[in-house]
Amino acid sequence: MWTYNAPLRDMHFVIEEVLQAPDAWAQTPAFEDLDADTSRQILEEAGKFANGVLAPINSAADLQGCSWHDGNVTTPQGYPAAYKAYVEGGWPALACDPAYGGQGLPQLLNAALNEMIAAANHGWTMYPGLLHGAYDCIKAHGSDALKARYLEKLTSGEWLATMNLSEPQAGSDLSQVRTKAEAGPMTADGASWLITGSKIWISGGDQDMTDNIVHLVLCRLPDAPAGNKGLSLMLAPKFLPDGSRNKIRCDGIEKKMGIKGSATCAMSFESATGWLVGEPHKGLTAMFVMMNSARLHVAMQGLGHLEIAQQNAHAYANERVQGKVKTKIDGKPGTIDQHPAVRRNLWNLRSLCEGERVLAYWTAQLLDQAHSHAVAAQRAKAEDMVALLTPVAKAFFTDNGNRGANEALQVWGGYGYVHEFGIEQTVRDSRIAMIYEGTNEIQAIDLLQRKIMSDGGAKLIDLLAVLELEIDACSGEPALEEFAEALSAQIAATREAVGALLAAQEADAEWSLRVADDFLRGLGFTLLAWAWARSARVALPKVADVWYADKLKTARFGVQWLLPEASFRWQRVMAREAVLPEID
Ligand SMILES: Cc1cc2nc3c(=O)[nH]c(=O)nc-3n(C[C@H](O)[C@H](O)[C@H](O)COP(=O)(O)OP(=O)(O)OC[C@H]3O[C@@H](n4cnc5c(N)ncnc54)[C@H](O)[C@@H]3O)c2cc1C
Repeated sequence: MWTYNAPLRDMHFVIEEVLQAPDAWAQTPAFEDLDADTSRQILEEAGKFANGVLAPINSAADLQGCSWHDGNVTTPQGYPAAYKAYVEGGWPALACDPAYGGQGLPQLLNAALNEMIAAANHGWTMYPGLLHGAYDCIKAHGSDALKARYLEKLTSGEWLATMNLSEPQAGSDLSQVRTKAEAGPMTADGASWLITGSKIWISGGDQDMTDNIVHLVLCRLPDAPAGNKGLSLMLAPKFLPDGSRNKIRCDGIEKKMGIKGSATCAMSFESATGWLVGEPHKGLTAMFVMMNSARLHVAMQGLGHLEIAQQNAHAYANERVQGKVKTKIDGKPGTIDQHPAVRRNLWNLRSLCEGERVLAYWTAQLLDQAHSHAVAAQRAKAEDMVALLTPVAKAFFTDNGNRGANEALQVWGGYGYVHEFGIEQTVRDSRIAMIYEGTNEIQAIDLLQRKIMSDGGAKLIDLLAVLELEIDACSGEPALEEFAEALSAQIAATREAVGALLAAQEADAEWSLRVADDFLRGLGFTLLAWAWARSARVALPKVADVWYADKLKTARFGVQWLLPEASFRWQRVMAREAVLPEID
């Protein structure tokens, strides 16, 4: 039977032992009251919510889907009640500012929460998925009036939020957005605007969980320059402050491959009232705050899918009896987890999952440092590292989440193809994460061109220097030698690739675009090599305990079986002469 058990012990291991977060909290004024015990209690409660409330309604919601009637969406049975429980549990407020009713806890705990809820029920998670991003965006760029009216409602989860970017002709290329806004009357919340246009694929554009919906809408003002520089961001609520209905309508919902519990809405704005968030024509700057937060959230969806796939594949393989294991001498039929082909599949999933969890939580920890570290230079350094790690986490984890789910399906054989066994839903649900919040191809280009090559590789070199510290920490210990060597080889390959790409930048401007996807995966493996080395080093002194011995096995498996993929990625990155023909 398909189930989810929040991997709390693994989470505590990463948070407390690998990242030593409680020590860092003690030295950060914003978190000094937080300790390991409290963090454990919070995650335990989050685990109960994910296991007990969200996971049980996941499969039925996939079958039932959402329905639309006359502009209104009805979400699957159990969704509104689960959302009520989420709000009552205070989960939306976890990492929000106490000034707006938040609990002021670290993003690190929020990342763990997001991993759990996405694993348990991706479709449901879409509704609160943009809440934090909208909160961040309004907090950073909204007027005082907008902050006063909306931030507490979003923090508490009383209202939900959406992100309205996409239009039929404007997907990855937002410069083609046509939705317009013209000056409206002055209101108590400042100068208003009247928004007209159509948006597509808006997650949670309408729903039956909250009394109001806060739409953030990308549009153009009358004097807007063409292209990305002419985009402005508006806040347009479903219900206006006087209680009247705004001129925003959900025209229908999509029938789609997965996350069927999430309403993907076509929206029309017909002189809908809105207010500017940020400056005119600087909408993308404001929107990026929302998108960066959302990208880390999407990365956690990839990790969550991998985790739930590996848990259930392991449980199934442990019970399914099929065939004799050729290398075993007793000749009795055994469970399929004894067959090396299946065993390897299970270790693939586990090893990837554990390495990614270290990277994901490290990114969230750096996000906390970027916001709250007492020393300004450390805040800036952490921010630079987050900028590099976010596109890698988004694209690498979501790729691996979908590939991993697909590989896991094989463990069930034919049963895997049948709905009631659960994994086929995970394969379908996990696919979208590679597309939205900026496709994985766009992430790869953003990483290589915007984040790495634009500063001559300076930020990446700093990041690699941080990773290199782990080589020193592992050296001298024979059991860790292979980890140090693997990490060292990966760092050298990354440096070589960046050096070559930078040197040829002018002569072959297309090269970095041709190989950006391979580069991102190569860097993903460099980061994993670091994560496995660090986990192994932390686990090594405790290997007398079988649980820690397993951590060492998982890390060693990653280095021996998964890291070889990095070699062909770097090989492809370096193959500048490889011809990529034009398509006629
Ligand atoms: C279920 C679902 C939920 C969604 N939720 C939202 C939402 O809440 N809000 C919202 O605004 N949008 C949402 N979207 C839209 C989503 O963000 C877009 O689908 C996505 O940005 C890609 O745009 P597109 O589909 O038009 O693909 P296109 O941009 O047409 O891309 C098609 C292909 O070309 C590639 N490509 C395009 N440009 C480049 C380039 N410059 N370099 C390299 N490759 C490129 C892409 O990677 C992709 O493989 C959602 C979509 C879905 C399906």
